[in-house]
Amino acid sequence: MGLGGLILLLALGSVLLTMANTLYSSYRVQRDLLIRNTLEANRVYAAKLAESTETHLDSTMQQLAYSARVLASNMDVPARLAEEADRLRLQTRSLNSVAIVRRDGTLVAVSPATLRVAGTSVKTDWGHALLTTRTPAISEPFISSTGRLIIFISHPIIDAEGRLLGYLGGTIYLNAKNMLHTILDRHYYRDSSYVYVVDRKGTIIFHPDNTHVGKSIIKNAVVRAVTGGEAGSQDVQTLYGVDMLAGYAPVKSTGWGIVVQKSTETTLANLNHLALVTFGNSIPFLLLSLVFIWWFSRLISRPLGQLAENARMVATPDGMGKIEKILCWYLEADRLKKALLRGMSLTSSELDKLNQQTITDALTGLRNRRGLANALDLYRQAGQSFAAITLDVDHFKAINDRYGHDVGDQVLKHIAGLMRAGSRGGDMASRSGGEEFVILLPGSSQENAFHIAERLREAVERTPNPTGGVITISLGVAHFPSSAEAVGEVLKQSDIALYQAKRSGRNKTVSYRKEPAGAVAPH
Ligand code: GH3
Ligand code: MG
Ligand code: MG
Repeated sequence: MGLGGLILLLALGSVLLTMANTLYSSYRVQRDLLIRNTLEANRVYAAKLAESTETHLDSTMQQLAYSARVLASNMDVPARLAEEADRLRLQTRSLNSVAIVRRDGTLVAVSPATLRVAGTSVKTDWGHALLTTRTPAISEPFISSTGRLIIFISHPIIDAEGRLLGYLGGTIYLNAKNMLHTILDRHYYRDSSYVYVVDRKGTIIFHPDNTHVGKSIIKNAVVRAVTGGEAGSQDVQTLYGVDMLAGYAPVKSTGWGIVVQKSTETTLANLNHLALVTFGNSIPFLLLSLVFIWWFSRLISRPLGQLAENARMVATPDGMGKIEKILCWYLEADRLKKALLRGMSLTSSELDKLNQQTITDALTGLRNRRGLANALDLYRQAGQSFAAITLDVDHFKAINDRYGHDVGDQVLKHIAGLMRAGSRGGDMASRSGGEEFVILLPGSSQENAFHIAERLREAVERTPNPTGGVITISLGVAHFPSSAEAVGEVLKQSDIALYQAKRSGRNKTVSYRKEPAGAVAPH
């Protein structure tokens, strides 16, 4: 994987991680907040309901107390008793039925009148207890003879002299329409949370789902707490294993517990939806980031990629030019580029030097045989016309023998100097071996080359040399394309001409002529 890919991976990884982290932590924060808020709302609501229930029961009791006072002086007027019983039931909607019982246990009035015939006797332990204690009371919930779950709320009727005349009682059906039911059922501001009520023993006496009424759930932690008189909130698992956020408060006068709860799952359902929406909303930003990251990672990696690509082509002629053009817009890439350019220019100058050495003759400083071959290759490629002069020192062996090898070398250098002095800018003088030299004259005619060769021959003959005596050279001249048809033949022809010069007495120049039989003739 390239640098661009790595940067992309790194940036992508960190963006995705950061985003996941942000989403997750905001989800956690909102989740905790939601749970806290729900618990608190349920706690407050349960307290409010407990207070309303308390107030309602208290005001019902107040109504009974008032009626008891009124009835104390009317116990002997049956019509008045019936009227008061009806008024109590119908005016307030607090009580589902009302009964007035005389001290001896005789039912003297009942509303609605269909329930029981007045005049029958009611003898219950509870009625008996009431008559003994002479105090207002609210019964435990119980199943009535008609099969309803009810509570009985009663007040003694005592006359001005303090004599107990009987009692006045009303029933509240726990799952029929009445004020208490309305209070507990009033649940209009939140969805999916609900209220249930237990009596002091932990038995459900009110539940939106009637089938639960009558079940004992004292094992439930919240129910245990609230029947113990505590108010508060907590998350709790129901006996059916459902997680709930419950608020609870006791109703002191009856020992009941009111529990408001909402399932944790339902509470958080919205949040999960919200998290999805949040995630959805962040997708455009994510895509934008991805495009930006992709673009920027390319921007960073491009100079390095291009440097790496071109560094492989150090040896090519335009390698440096290409590297020059690479836009390195940040520090490290720029340093790398400069280092690369420095390295390349060093390498290429070393290479130049090496090249120069490989094509140069160490003794004379002229081109060597390889340099000569290179030049011929170039001429061949370019189809360049040129003349060639081949020359050989006459009796050089004798010079060596007479003056020594070192002087021989000096003579070679001396001749090279003369060759250099006599050549034009484009000419190329080379030492093709031992004491043999070749001069290439691009663009020159064969005649012109001949004259130059003659001038050189005369110069060598005339100019004082390291031997102190006279030295001479013999020369052969040929031309492409006048004499030779191919570049490769020119040197052969000039060699033949040189040989001819030697044969015909040395210290001569012979120009190669393509003539029949014995073709070569001196000028
Ligand atoms: P000719 O006129 O026929 O050319 O006679 P020549 O003596 O020059 O004969 P030839 O060309 O065969 O001799 C070449 C001699 O040049 C032989 C060798 O000892 C000598 N020689 C070749 N290279 C060098 C060199 O680099 N330095 C010196 N001092 N002598 C060299
Ligand atoms: Mg020779
Ligand atoms: Mg020679």
